[in-house]
Amino acid sequence: METKTSSNFIKNIVIEDLHTGKHKEIITRFPPEPNGYLHIGHAKSIVLNFELADEFKGKTNLRFDDTNPVKEDTEYVESIEEDVKWLGFDWENLYFASDYFEEMYERAILLIKKGKAYVCDLSPEEIKQMRGNLTEPGKESPYRNRNTEENLDLFEMMRSGEFGDGQKVLRAKIDMSSPNINMRDPIIYRIARATHHNTGDKWCIYPMYDYAHPIEDAIEAITHSICTLEFEDHRPLYDWVIRECEMESQPQQIEFARLNMTNTVMSKRKLKLLVDEKIVDAWDDPRMPTIAGLRRRGYTPAAIRSFCREIGVAKNNSTVDIQMLEYFIREDLKTSTSNVMGVLRPLKVVITNYPEGQTEMLDAENNSENPELGNRQIPFSREIYIEQEDFMENPPNKYFRLFPGNEVRLKFAYFIKCNEVIKDESGNILEIHCTYDEETKSGSGFNARKVKGTLHWVAAKHAVPAEYRLYEPLMLEDEKSDKNFLDQINPNSMEIIQGYVEPAVKDAKPQDKFQFMRHGYFNVDPKNTTKDKLVFNRIVSLKSSFEIK
Ligand code: ATP
Ligand code: MG
Repeated sequence: METKTSSNFIKNIVIEDLHTGKHKEIITRFPPEPNGYLHIGHAKSIVLNFELADEFKGKTNLRFDDTNPVKEDTEYVESIEEDVKWLGFDWENLYFASDYFEEMYERAILLIKKGKAYVCDLSPEEIKQMRGNLTEPGKESPYRNRNTEENLDLFEMMRSGEFGDGQKVLRAKIDMSSPNINMRDPIIYRIARATHHNTGDKWCIYPMYDYAHPIEDAIEAITHSICTLEFEDHRPLYDWVIRECEMESQPQQIEFARLNMTNTVMSKRKLKLLVDEKIVDAWDDPRMPTIAGLRRRGYTPAAIRSFCREIGVAKNNSTVDIQMLEYFIREDLKTSTSNVMGVLRPLKVVITNYPEGQTEMLDAENNSENPELGNRQIPFSREIYIEQEDFMENPPNKYFRLFPGNEVRLKFAYFIKCNEVIKDESGNILEIHCTYDEETKSGSGFNARKVKGTLHWVAAKHAVPAEYRLYEPLMLEDEKSDKNFLDQINPNSMEIIQGYVEPAVKDAKPQDKFQFMRHGYFNVDPKNTTKDKLVFNRIVSLKSSFEIK
């Protein structure tokens, strides 16, 4: 069962605005830049924006904030649409900021005509140097007082390609001594010759984020424009653009804390580097915190949504423990998946008193907490595999699994007792020999004696080979700006093991999920699973056991 988001300060603003009649309907937007795949941090923003509007019968747009052609790509546009849908959300409208380029240009002309913008010939570096800092005011550009005619001519020439990249910019004319550095004549247009994924080579000038974003929001009549805290200091500029460009509608920018998670990088730039440097397989590598990676790992949309609601919306930055995300996927899969047997590191056991060539079918319930999942039949025969770590020749105290002379229960089957260990010349264990007791059959009501250990197993003849991929966090530390993050990569983030699964799992399809007894929750990998070989990604272990080594 999914829970609803509890109260938060953004919801309170919305309630107030509907109450006072400031807005009749709530319109929010999710505005990704298509320069990478979405990650779990974006999920927080998606859940917040879509559910907020939904709760108050409003609307949410998906808008691609595609104003920087150099980094943007159609592959990213497609993946973002897929991921938002997969998370379970439907947008009211799909928009591209680049569809508004003409209007943005017109509004810039309006600013020039009002004496609120000018063409500046300083280089971006010079502009930066002259901006001043928190204690010193900025210096005015020598081009600040160009007259309107000249500015209009130059801006038109910028558009028609008469200047080289970086040769001129358009700046808002605000206040070089403002205590807010964002207000010191920010650049609002730059020249860049790059083919845009949507507009091709139509434009060689592109608007800057701080100019474009408020116009995008206003064009769409967004009521509440929710963004992360870094933009708090940009709000005066956001409001300035809305006002000076004479936009009809006046969206309100509201900032909230971005999601940070332990042992996780969450910047698209860094995630792209992991892909480009081939540290991971691709954007959808199951170790990636991307939505595509989480999906391939085996996370469900419901688990991600529940997590996003639980972490809530706050005004101060904090770091959420990744174990919280893991908690929600366990909760979701606990009663919805079949509990099956798979052996990761096999050790052969021969049951010497079991008739050769005989196979019997044993009854097994699929999920003891959810009878609706029914039962299955498991073959049992003379040779089986158990887990190597479930046998010890010389066990320590309180080892209740198999060792010479000890008796254990095989889940759904019989008690077996170990009698002999067979080794090769160098002393490696090849197989172990056991006897079983027919009377102890599971479900027979046998209770003449008890055993302490219960092992999972698969019958050797019926075992289906499978590859298991076990994961640990990709990052050894939390995201920190002061360290080179490539030095923080966990060299042991993936372990690949060849083992077996019971035959009931043989026809599993990509993205099918199972609970493997004593090993955790697994997902059938959609990319590397073939007709002949099942590949399982471990989503999470049964209990949290992660610690940094
Ligand atoms: P990144 O730094 O990872 O590239 P971004 O903020 O540049 O992220 P955008 O595509 O601009 O990525 O983000 C789209 C929306 O998602 C924005 O409204 C942004 O505030 C939000 N968002 C991005 N990262 C997070 C995060 N970690 N937590 C919450 N919201 C986020
Ligand atoms: Mg961005």
